[in-house]
Amino acid sequence: MSMRDDKDLSLAVEALLADPAYARNPLRQALDELYTEFRNVLHQIDRVTRISDRYQSVTRERTQSLTERYQKQLRQLEKMARISDRYQSMMRDLNEALKEAATRDALTGIGNRRMLMDRLKAETARAQRMGRPLALALLDVDRFKTVNDAWGHEIGDRALVEIARAVSDAVRDYDICGRWGGEEFMIIMPEIGAREAVPVVERVREAVAALKVATPGEPLSLSASFGVTEWRPEENISDTICRADAAMFAAKHAGRNRLEVAA
Ligand code: GH3
Ligand code: MG
Ligand code: MG
Repeated sequence: MSMRDDKDLSLAVEALLADPAYARNPLRQALDELYTEFRNVLHQIDRVTRISDRYQSVTRERTQSLTERYQKQLRQLEKMARISDRYQSMMRDLNEALKEAATRDALTGIGNRRMLMDRLKAETARAQRMGRPLALALLDVDRFKTVNDAWGHEIGDRALVEIARAVSDAVRDYDICGRWGGEEFMIIMPEIGAREAVPVVERVREAVAALKVATPGEPLSLSASFGVTEWRPEENISDTICRADAAMFAAKHAGRNRLEVAA
């Protein structure tokens, strides 16, 4: 039934019910009740429709605000991800700097004892795995206490910086040198045994002996004593170091500014 039919029918029924000519018609009572019932049903349908419309618009609003909330949270997450990325790269840089600081000697700028121990572990593991030789040298600056006594700690420090540079420059590219402590340095020489290490260490000894450290007076000459040895397969690294140390002391006793080899 269309809207128009609906309206026409209502008007027709209302006219019939109002017409006094049908007041006594036995069907009038039934029509009146039917019409009342019809209007009730119409009213109810109207209500249900309105409720349903409202429900739909509320649902739409809720969906909309959910989408908005979702998008807002997404934007916040993206922002947090960007901050976290930046934070992580800062942490990476900081870690690098810390690692650098932890393995580098503050005075001379070359590797420190921790770096040397790390590299010794790695190099002995590699030598073991590949069945390759590995040489080790310890050097101790001769009579260094007299340098401090004669010229003061500052010039002593400068001498150590220059010794560190001389040692670094004299070793082969793949050798590793560092400050073992005080006026002692270590050289790790992969791929060669003690005998082949002798010319390398001899070159280092000559480089140290050739240094002229500036002082307020005469330029200062220095020398160092060296102990050379090689790592033995299966051997604990501290045993290798002890042997190099003993050889270095032997060089001191033999008159300094020389190297001793412990096979
Ligand atoms: P030797 O030939 O027997 O090795 O004699 P030495 O004087 O070098 O030996 P000793 O071990 O008696 O003295 C080492 C000196 O090195 C003592 C210490 O003050 C000095 N020294 C150690 N580290 C530093 C440092 O960082 N700066 C300065 N200026 N001196 C240092
Ligand atoms: Mg010493
Ligand atoms: Mg010394």
